Amino acid sequence: MRTLVWFRGKDLRVADHAPLRAALDTAKNGRGSLIPLFVLDDYFFAPEAARRIPFRMQFLVESLRSLAANLEHLGSRLVVVGGSSVEEVPRLAKLWGVDRVVAQSWVAPVGRARDRLVMQGLEVPLELHDTETLCRPGRLRTGAGDPFSVFTPFARAFARDIEVDAPIPAPRSLPPLPADVRTRSTAIPTLESLGITHNPRVQPGGERNARERLKRWLAGDAKDYDELRNRMDLDGTSRLGADLKFGTLSPRTVWNAVDRRLRELSPDALRVYQSELLWREFAHHSLFDRPSLLRTPFRENWRKFPWLHDEGGWSAWVEGRTGYPIVDASARQLLATGFVHNRARMISASFLTKHLLIDFRRGESHYFDWLTDGDWASNDMGWQWSAGCGCDAQPWFRIFNPVTQGEKFDPEGEYVRTWVPELARMPAKYIHSPWDAPPDVLATAGVRLGTNYPRPIVLHETARQRFLATAKRHLG
Ligand SMILES: Cc1cc2nc3c(=O)[nH]c(=O)nc-3n(C[C@H](O)[C@H](O)[C@H](O)COP(=O)(O)OP(=O)(O)OC[C@H]3O[C@@H](n4cnc5c(N)ncnc54)[C@H](O)[C@@H]3O)c2cc1C
Repeated sequence: MRTLVWFRGKDLRVADHAPLRAALDTAKNGRGSLIPLFVLDDYFFAPEAARRIPFRMQFLVESLRSLAANLEHLGSRLVVVGGSSVEEVPRLAKLWGVDRVVAQSWVAPVGRARDRLVMQGLEVPLELHDTETLCRPGRLRTGAGDPFSVFTPFARAFARDIEVDAPIPAPRSLPPLPADVRTRSTAIPTLESLGITHNPRVQPGGERNARERLKRWLAGDAKDYDELRNRMDLDGTSRLGADLKFGTLSPRTVWNAVDRRLRELSPDALRVYQSELLWREFAHHSLFDRPSLLRTPFRENWRKFPWLHDEGGWSAWVEGRTGYPIVDASARQLLATGFVHNRARMISASFLTKHLLIDFRRGESHYFDWLTDGDWASNDMGWQWSAGCGCDAQPWFRIFNPVTQGEKFDPEGEYVRTWVPELARMPAKYIHSPWDAPPDVLATAGVRLGTNYPRPIVLHETARQRFLATAKRHLG
């Protein structure tokens, strides 16, 4: 049996890789072989497409290199080709005479559409393993047989029906690439060749780095996750978003590792962390059942919401010049590092959609371009939740106050000081509302409102009333 193991960017690892294991199981004792393949699909790797997502591309390229090195270390080799997966996979499967193609399935509609076309082109089976999530999307259903649209019953059904398997260990060795597989392997592109400048502040990709991140976090802040996770000034979360997105760690590896470490040590932290992993699961299952979510709000009465075309507000939000320090800090952290703390994402998304009345899809697309963990399912869920139009969303009439949120979750103002250096010398008391500071405090801190740091582009109370009136009129 000859198997083509098609790696597709959401599974960039050798440990707990179900398709690789399936291929290995049938290639044992020298009777079969396996061919690891990655297609540099133009959809992502054409330079103009790659440059749109510079931080994710950096993480992806590093993770690909690490995958290639790991496969080589195990005795095989990653064959890398350019072009379109829809053409290349069937062509190579035929050329190399493979008996089947194995891969991890994708939840995102773009991947499912690609797989349908690849299946049509293949003369052998495409065997897909549903390991992007903890359990197969579509598996959990309400009593009426429908997809869940509320998180809590979804999480309850998960707890009741799903046993998360132990991860599959990495293979100890792999059979060598068959001698007749002669296609010239293309080099993994360099960032320079894609026109992207390496950003040292983006977390490094690759399976080994992912494992080290997980290990470090488990040994450090994990036990206090339930307390620290909302603090924007602390580095208390796991920072595994991009690893889960690109599959440098599988979700069940993370689930089991956290379980092992925290079960005795800190059950509260374990419960809260696993609940976050279930939000990821919920987002993926929701998108699987409702691919149209990437285009339209979940709630029908939001479909014609009268969003504003406020270009000034949009650029201020993107560039971190709204005059609300916590919103500006998150905008600048995103553009500088590709990461934003979850609480800051929520505040920022709420500000864009509610204070500025700008369509959540614009914010979603901006985040998708710049987040290293930018992911169709979780990003869409985060945006629709924040706007109030999604599955189990924040009620639309709940509007974050960026000042009190800042005071609560960045109490000393350290998050703001890091990302808005103009305010670095403001005392904590005024850092989230510099317009309230007396003139002498502003002067001592070197802050000249309207000159070196903007005044608020909208007043919180006015913006709040405007949103409530608009939403009430439209949503009834
Ligand atoms: C507007 C908005 C946009 C978002 N966009 C994305 C995105 O593109 N990709 C993404 O992975 N997450 C997204 N999230 C969810 C969340 O902010 C990130 O998963 C989290 O900040 C990643 O950091 P971490 O790994 O340190 O998280 P941790 O707090 O350590 O959480 C562990 C893991 O659980 C998952 N997780 C945690 N919270 C959520 C959540 N609310 N929804 C879904 N999964 C979650 C992630 O995989 C995360 O890595 C978004 C949230 C909002 C409000």
